Amino acid sequence: MRAIILLGAPGAGKGTLADGIKAASRFQHVATGDMLRAALKQGTPVGREAEAFMKRGELVPDEVIFKLVEARIAAGGGDDGFMFDGFPRTLAQAERLDALLAAHGGKVDHVFLLEAPRALLLSRLTGRRVCRGCGAVYHVVNIPPRRAGLCDACGGELYQRADDQEATIANRLDVYERQTAPLIAYYDRQGVLTRVDAARERQESVAAILAAATDRGR
Ligand code: AMP
Repeated sequence: MRAIILLGAPGAGKGTLADGIKAASRFQHVATGDMLRAALKQGTPVGREAEAFMKRGELVPDEVIFKLVEARIAAGGGDDGFMFDGFPRTLAQAERLDALLAAHGGKVDHVFLLEAPRALLLSRLTGRRVCRGCGAVYHVVNIPPRRAGLCDACGGELYQRADDQEATIANRLDVYERQTAPLIAYYDRQGVLTRVDAARERQESVAAILAAATDRGR
C-alpha cells in the first residue's frame, strides 16, 4: 500500500493541494484536522477532547490522533494508496505511522514538504474563509468567491476558522516549528523528502507530485 504525506506549516496550502491531487488520482485522503473538525461539529467524545487544544492552536494529544488514524487505515486506502495531510505532526506520530503501514505491508513512499516564508503563511491564514456547508476553502484576496461571503459550489455561508484568528495563528506557527519541523530531518534521513515551493501554481505542483508519487508519468 503506497503512502504519501503532505508536510508543511499551517497556511502552506496542504489542503488546497490535496484537493487538486484528489481530483486527479485515487488516493484516500486522510486529513486529521478535517476529521477533528467533523468530530467537534458532531459533538463526539473525540471532538470534545480535542476542542480546547484546537482553540488554543496546540496539538491534540497523540493518543487521540492515533485512534482516528488507525481506524482510517484499517478501513483501507484508495487505488493509489493513502495521502496524509496534517498528519504526522510529531515524531511519535511519524513512528506510529511507520509501524501501522508496516503492519499493512506498506511504508511512507514520499513526503512532500511545502515551503513558504512566514509572511506568506500569515497572509494565507488571516485571509482564509471556509464554507460551512461543503468545506470548500477560499481566500478574501487570492481565491475570492463570486458572491461575497457565499460558497460558489453550494451557496453555503463562508466563515473564518476560530484558529485562523491572529492570536492563535502565531501559536500554531510556533507549535509547527517546535513539534512538527523535526519531521523534516526524520524523512530526509529516510531519503523520501521532496521540497515543493508553496508559492508555485497549484496545478504545477499537483502534476509534479502525481508524476513522482503514482504510476502516471512513468
Ligand atoms: P489543521 O486543519 O491541519 O490545521 O488542524 C487544525 C488543528 O487540529 C491543529 O491546530 C491541531 O490542534 C489539531 N490537529 C490536526 N491534526 C493534528 C495532528 N496530526 N496531531 C495533533 N493535532 C492535530
